[in-house]
Amino acid sequence: MCFSDLCRVRVALRIRPKNTDELAQGADFDTCVELQPECKKLKLKKNNWASESYQFDEIFGENSSQKRIYEVVAKPVVESVLEGYNGTVMAYGQTGTGKTYTVGQLGKEDPSERGIMVRALEHILSSMSLETDSVAVSYLQLYLESVQDLLAPEKTNIPIVEDPKTGEVSLPGAAIVEIKDLEHVCQLLQIGETNRHAANTKMNTESSRSHAILIIHLQRSLKIKEETTVSIPSDTEHTLPGDLPLVLKSKLLIVDLAGSERIDKSGSEGHMIEEAKFINLSLSSLGKCINALAENSSHIPTRDSKLTRMLRDSFGGTARTSLVVTIGPSARHHSETSSTVLFGQRAMKVVNTIRLKEEVDYETLYKNVENEVDHLTSEMERQQKLRHREKMQLEKRLKESETFLNDLKMISSVQIENLEKEKHQFEYAVKRLMQELEEKEGRNNVLSEKIVHLETSLNEKKQQQLESFSTTQILAETTKTYEKKMGELLRELEEERSRSASMKGHFNVLEQQLSDARSSAQENMARELKRELSKITQTFTSQVHSLEEKISQLVSEKELIYGELKSTQAKVQDEASHRQSLEAEVLRLKRSKTDNCVEESKTLCGMVRSGSGLGSEAFMHKSGNLKETLASQRGTISKIFEEVGLPNVLALLKSEELEVQIHAVKVVANLAAEDINQEKIVEEGGLDALLSLLETSENTTIHRATAGAIANLAMNVSNQALIMNKGGARLLANIASKTDDPQTMRMVAGAIANLCGNEKWHAMLKQDGGIKALLGMFQTGHTDVIAQIARGLANFAKCESRVISQGHKKGRSLLIEDGVLSWIMANSTMFPPSTRRHIELAFCHLAQNVENSRDIIITGGIKELLRISKESSRDDARNLAKKALNSNPAFLKEIQ
Ligand code: ADP
Ligand code: MG
Repeated sequence: MCFSDLCRVRVALRIRPKNTDELAQGADFDTCVELQPECKKLKLKKNNWASESYQFDEIFGENSSQKRIYEVVAKPVVESVLEGYNGTVMAYGQTGTGKTYTVGQLGKEDPSERGIMVRALEHILSSMSLETDSVAVSYLQLYLESVQDLLAPEKTNIPIVEDPKTGEVSLPGAAIVEIKDLEHVCQLLQIGETNRHAANTKMNTESSRSHAILIIHLQRSLKIKEETTVSIPSDTEHTLPGDLPLVLKSKLLIVDLAGSERIDKSGSEGHMIEEAKFINLSLSSLGKCINALAENSSHIPTRDSKLTRMLRDSFGGTARTSLVVTIGPSARHHSETSSTVLFGQRAMKVVNTIRLKEEVDYETLYKNVENEVDHLTSEMERQQKLRHREKMQLEKRLKESETFLNDLKMISSVQIENLEKEKHQFEYAVKRLMQELEEKEGRNNVLSEKIVHLETSLNEKKQQQLESFSTTQILAETTKTYEKKMGELLRELEEERSRSASMKGHFNVLEQQLSDARSSAQENMARELKRELSKITQTFTSQVHSLEEKISQLVSEKELIYGELKSTQAKVQDEASHRQSLEAEVLRLKRSKTDNCVEESKTLCGMVRSGSGLGSEAFMHKSGNLKETLASQRGTISKIFEEVGLPNVLALLKSEELEVQIHAVKVVANLAAEDINQEKIVEEGGLDALLSLLETSENTTIHRATAGAIANLAMNVSNQALIMNKGGARLLANIASKTDDPQTMRMVAGAIANLCGNEKWHAMLKQDGGIKALLGMFQTGHTDVIAQIARGLANFAKCESRVISQGHKKGRSLLIEDGVLSWIMANSTMFPPSTRRHIELAFCHLAQNVENSRDIIITGGIKELLRISKESSRDDARNLAKKALNSNPAFLKEIQ
């Protein structure tokens, strides 16, 4: 099956870039070519004034890439080969102009340098299916008209055979290696290249003298092809049956020709001229063939050389052919360049008739048919066996059925006979039965007549019976009612009887129980009484015993006490006589004292001195005019004191007689006003006695005098410790809360005020209620009391402020905790002027502590501070107020 088309040989011209020698010539380099790639023309200079222009299918400058060469020159041919046509790509040119570079470069290092051979095989491999198609290569060298296998170098002189019918050329004996991938391709081409080089070395020739021919055999299955890329021309008739396997077989020749220069120029000296001619035979023969083809000559000398025989299909044949003519740029090779260009020009005139050949793939077809026959044969055999088996089975079943049928036949004939017999017997029996039936019918008729007769007589009798029956029924019913009533009465009677019987039984039981109970009760009581009696007797005896013991104990105790009483009486008598003498002494003293004492309370006032310096004026203001009296009074007292002795005076503090006690306290109070006495009083237990008096006594005078004495003692720092530690503050506060006597309060306040002057006792003082007691006494409104309160607060605030300013203490004032600040603010207008300055001082000292700022601000203290800073009569108060206002940022902020 053939499809044919006319197709001219395509010719491209490629110029090699200048080589190192040519570049070395620099400005001296002379070129004879000028390319005009845009119009695909080449200008060849004959000399300085004449040049000729040649048109090619494509002109490649020295910078053209291998890829573009492939795409323009070889790709159309490869595509054609893939479609099933034969194809040829060939390089022609002088040695050293780049034929091998264009065609056979392997590009091992740089894939961009790969030549047409590698690229064509790569293209083919990527375009076909390895499952249905195959590609194989032969690689040959033609030298001195001898064909050598480059893939199997041992094979030389390979013959070229032409099929006389088809004209197909083959090289029997040349290796045809099937390839699967590009790596394999590169390996084969490398082997070929190595072998070409080795062969030439061995024969002492140059590769430029030999032709290298790569033949690519391609076989593709048409069915697959129809589905993929190949399109069969539609106008062609397709007479092969559709299910025949068709193949497309095509061949691609890639030829790297020997150098086209004349022998003498190639530098291969040493060859005989004849040999040289032989060397060039193939090439000159090719030139002749192309000339003949170009000129449409009737005779084409194809058979003249091995090359032309091998390329029979490529020029003037059925293949699609592309030719690259390579030239160098140098003017030195003008004549070679010119002959190359002319060769190309002539080749462009050669027209091939490309033809597609489809072949039935008889091999596959045969295989398929054989498979089919095998399949059918085995199937037939299988069916035959199956039939035979079925036939045998059927025959067997038929036989079985036949015997079964015979058996059945026999059985049924016997059964038929038996049935005939039975039938006869039945017929006879039926006859007899019919006869009997007739006889019975006759008898039946007679009987039915009799029955009719009996029925009528029976009806009559029934009527009579009905009448007698109703009378009997009435009688029976009356009898039944009476019987029923009688039964009921009898039952009631019976019940009554049984009830009375049970009552009787019950009565008897009760009687029995009653008698039993009577006797047991008496017995129990007697026993119980006995038990009780014995118990009581027992307790009584034991009580008597214990009483007796107690009595004896008491008697002995009595005796003991009596003894003690006697000795005590003696002591008491002694004491009494001693006391009498003391009392007489006291009375004497009293008498002498009354003359001196103008006013008791005033004296006591004088007794209290200021210890802190703050209080001296306040405490002494009333006694100022009594100084002289006091001095003489004290003199008397100290005289008495010397005469009687302190222990005796202190003993009198415990006297049972109130009057004596009062006087003794007053004496002690007076003594306590003197520093020298204070120590002795305390040493002799006077402070303890005074504190216990304060605690136990209910007498106001004693309270007043004791408080005075303690106030005096409280001026001394060591006494302050004793007073505080023995709970003096608490006792004083207690008296303050109990009394409403202003003088007592004055003493108490004075004592507390003195204690306020020592910061060591502040916390305890506060804890024991001293501060609260001070504030509480304000209610009395008595100027002297208020003066002491103010003095105490000023003492307290000053000491506290000092300790805080020295950094020994921190925190809000204890006074504020007890409400002093709000007390000051609430009562500021009520203070007598004499007291005011003490209060002002106390307030200003409080204002020095920043931790009190908030309370001062809240209670409206800023106003008071401002007032003090301006109006206070005391410099120190004014200065303190100013200092507080100016140094405290909180106050400054408030003022703004
Ligand atoms: P030929 O096969 O025609 O004798 P070669 O292909 O062996 O020529 O080329 C001769 C030298 O020139 C080689 O070194 C080759 O690499 C180099 N050469 C040829 N053509 C080119 C080109 N187009 N670009 C770069 N180098 C080239
Ligand atoms: Mg070469």
